[in-house]
Amino acid sequence: MKHSDLLQIAEKYGDPIYVYDSEKIISQFNRLTNAFSSVSKLKLNYAAKALSNLAILRLMNSLGSGLDTVSIQEVKLGLMAGFKPEDIIYTPNGVSLEEIEEAADLGVRINIDNLSILEQFGTKHPNVPVCIRINPHVMAGGNSKISVGHIDSKFGISIHQIPHLLRIVELTKMHINGIHMHTGSDILDIDVFLYASEILFDTAKHFKELDFIDFGSGFKVPYKEGDIQTNIEELGQKLTGRFNEFCSEYGKELTLAFEPGKFLVSEAGYFLAKVNVVKQTTSTVFASVDSGFNHLIRPMFYGSSHEIINISNPEGRERYYSVVGYICETDTFGSNRRINEISEGDILCFRNAGAYCFTMASNYNSRYRPAEVLWHKGKAYLIRERETFEDLVRNLVDHETLFVSSKEKAIAK
Ligand SMILES: *Cc1c(COP(=O)(O)O)cnc(C)c1O
Repeated sequence: MKHSDLLQIAEKYGDPIYVYDSEKIISQFNRLTNAFSSVSKLKLNYAAKALSNLAILRLMNSLGSGLDTVSIQEVKLGLMAGFKPEDIIYTPNGVSLEEIEEAADLGVRINIDNLSILEQFGTKHPNVPVCIRINPHVMAGGNSKISVGHIDSKFGISIHQIPHLLRIVELTKMHINGIHMHTGSDILDIDVFLYASEILFDTAKHFKELDFIDFGSGFKVPYKEGDIQTNIEELGQKLTGRFNEFCSEYGKELTLAFEPGKFLVSEAGYFLAKVNVVKQTTSTVFASVDSGFNHLIRPMFYGSSHEIINISNPEGRERYYSVVGYICETDTFGSNRRINEISEGDILCFRNAGAYCFTMASNYNSRYRPAEVLWHKGKAYLIRERETFEDLVRNLVDHETLFVSSKEKAIAK
């Protein structure tokens, strides 16, 4: 997107604001699809939690994507966006049996990741097909906050529990239609991923009625210059060959599924915030924007490095800045960043703001969550209004008469 388009959007709809470029989402979707073009049945299920605005879900549906959901509310959002129930997969962790039953009643695909619920669900509903989430105990990437396949992870059924898993399936006569893994949001090393895939194939052999194998996600996109990114084309080539080989061993054309979130939407997102104060201290120059981790928490929560550009002064002389927020916490977006000279009132643009940005926003400090805009075919569409004071107080129950101040008591006497 052009800087001038972004500036116009901030001008028209105010700031802070999230902007998503549909063209980038579409090109990422096509890139992934093309990388696996030699698989006869491919299904991409967009991970709704990355960015769950209704317009984005409708866009994904129009592209032929399915939807990966982690809560009953995301399931309902998906249905609202027009996804057919069979195109939604529900992959929760640590939720109640009742919530899983509610999802099953809505007709979506069920993915279960622990033996306790599997046994209970299979006993009560042996006719509802279920996919099982396996933990292959493979560490993808180096950051333990985003690697979920390793031994201490709370996600998935351990491969060491396969004998117990098989006993539950046999005793309940339930129907296992899919095998799933999601090893974390960080596929850096394709060989590690392929190694985990072998474990999934080994597990799959135990089940005779599979329709699909779901390899989860974790595709890495670049955040800053020089970042390593997943080589999707290489992964596509290597996994396709092995997958087709497995299908012929298995004796059935299975669907190869992925559930990418970040890969599809991260780079399509821009977060725009205005500089309120430029503050020179003895050690640095701070630029304080009208935002904080209430709107964009990834830098503070995960240490992720979002590129920051001064779109109001792109030709200005570069200086070092610490870009911080306006909430009463240490909320540093970036330290020692070389940015074109910043003046108060300038609009800063944070890149890679599509995935896990708005969806993690909160009302901390009683601030409003930002508006969202979709940029589609050269036009801006408001897809979420900025919150208002009414939104903040909507659910409050005001017990005005419960507390009488001591002053009033004195008057009453
Ligand atoms: C979050 C999540 C994803 C998406 O991960 P990305 O790194 O954003 O691609 C996929 N599958 C499951 C089960 C998830 O919880």
